[in-house]
Amino acid sequence: MEKQIQVAIDGPASAGKSTVAKLVAKKFHYVYCDTGAMYRVVTLAALNRGISMEDTAQISKLAQEIKISFAPGEPEQKVFLNGEEVTTDIRQGRIDQNVSAVAAIPEVRQEMTNLQRQIAREGGIVMDGRDIGSTVLPDAPVKIFMVATAHERARRRYVENKAKGIKTASLEELQKEIELRDKKDSSRKVSPLTQAPDAIRLDTTQLTIDQVVDKISTIIKKTLNELG
Ligand code: C5P
Repeated sequence: MEKQIQVAIDGPASAGKSTVAKLVAKKFHYVYCDTGAMYRVVTLAALNRGISMEDTAQISKLAQEIKISFAPGEPEQKVFLNGEEVTTDIRQGRIDQNVSAVAAIPEVRQEMTNLQRQIAREGGIVMDGRDIGSTVLPDAPVKIFMVATAHERARRRYVENKAKGIKTASLEELQKEIELRDKKDSSRKVSPLTQAPDAIRLDTTQLTIDQVVDKISTIIKKTLNELG
């Protein structure tokens, strides 16, 4: 059987990582893991319990206590918090606005990083996030850094929200929110959003989803050949 490798896909908000990562995983019969969803679940749990976003001790404790799980689903993977489905809840605007603060807490990152490494341990995984190639899986043989202009990313998010029936902000508001989240994610102290030195940069502004999936698949196949 062919070697089962780790594929790390990172990049700023709404660059299309999840959509592409899921399709790539399907193509290679790999497991897909959306690490952004994990930080979103912690944020949802904290907000539901009325914990202040400044109370980093309580949020860290919560991150250790809750159970985050995934199940296959169409058009997107199902996400659970303590066994209860929260797939749509974690995509609300209030989560978008607070998740970067939660993801900046070092203890929360440590907990999520441990979980992610466990999930990826056996290989055969496509994991997307912000720090997968740089911190979570530094030895992953395939690392992609996906980028697109903020305008194009806001447009994609807008169309996606509409299609999913999620109450959406205007295009301008979405672009502002995306830019602000990128700024927060890039400037935090622990594992900021950054391109790993050995990652391949892919600008998807002018590319269709299928074209991006094809490019990444070619890179994976080449790597598998090289690894023998
Ligand atoms: O990918 P998504 O937009 O769902 O991620 C939500 C948030 O989770 C990001 O804005 C970032 O703050 C955080 N995140 C992170 N590290 C990851 C994945 C996501 O800090 N590996």
